[in-house]
Amino acid sequence: MGGGRDFTGQTIYKRVNGRYIRQVPYKKDILQISSLEITDSYKVDTSKKQITINNISKTKNFSQLESELEKTFGYVEITQQLRKYGNFELVKSGMVAVERMTKLFPMLKNSGLIMRMDGGSREAISGIDFDNNLHFYYNFFKKDNPESIFGNGKYHPKNFSYEQVIAHELGHKLELIFLQKVYPKVTDRQLKALFQTHEGFTYISKVMYQKLYNKGYRGHATEMMKAVSGYAKKNWAEFGAEAIGDVYSNGSKASSVSQLFVLTLLEEFDKLNN
Ligand SMILES: [Zn+2]
Repeated sequence: MGGGRDFTGQTIYKRVNGRYIRQVPYKKDILQISSLEITDSYKVDTSKKQITINNISKTKNFSQLESELEKTFGYVEITQQLRKYGNFELVKSGMVAVERMTKLFPMLKNSGLIMRMDGGSREAISGIDFDNNLHFYYNFFKKDNPESIFGNGKYHPKNFSYEQVIAHELGHKLELIFLQKVYPKVTDRQLKALFQTHEGFTYISKVMYQKLYNKGYRGHATEMMKAVSGYAKKNWAEFGAEAIGDVYSNGSKASSVSQLFVLTLLEEFDKLNN
């Protein structure tokens, strides 16, 4: 992309043949453009009213939680370490995301999960890996008030919660499922390589960017990423997972970029099924 226009409307300068030339600010911002696009075709209703949370919120211990999760995910294992050191109520609050996410993205059903407690880094809360392990990091659970780190809305989308964290991780799972559908014949090793280069969400993001381009957007991809969250700038895999977390928590009040990403993801899944 040639540099130049900035959708925030700030005047910026572009270097041309050794001279700086003032650029005309780009008037229409990315959010307005994508809002126009999604009001017509955006069909996912993520409001909490629409999705009743029945079973998981009623569970009282890890064994009950495990058997409820198995109804959705097939085989589920909650490791002894997680049972011993995990804060049950906190884990359960995250698992509510499993029910809601599976209603939004039915392709998550029967994917099987192993939930385990690990050391983790100082900042990380959780993670998911290629072998379906959902990692709960001990350092986070060890904090006196772990949920106090949520809610500033800068590094992560607004209304950040443990639920949103798990929705984010399941977003990565969707990326893997998408890749498996696009490349049904590759080996596990090749698939892992594709996943590690974030091919799945890179693909969706390119389709999404093209939609915005067709509407007149000429900004940089990083500006598009920033409209979702600070962390979304890290790479396309995090961009996608953050957009999913944003739509999960904020529904139609999520960043329009996040909503357009989710819409595009669902459309691309539909294409693969037809
Ligand atoms: Zn992530």
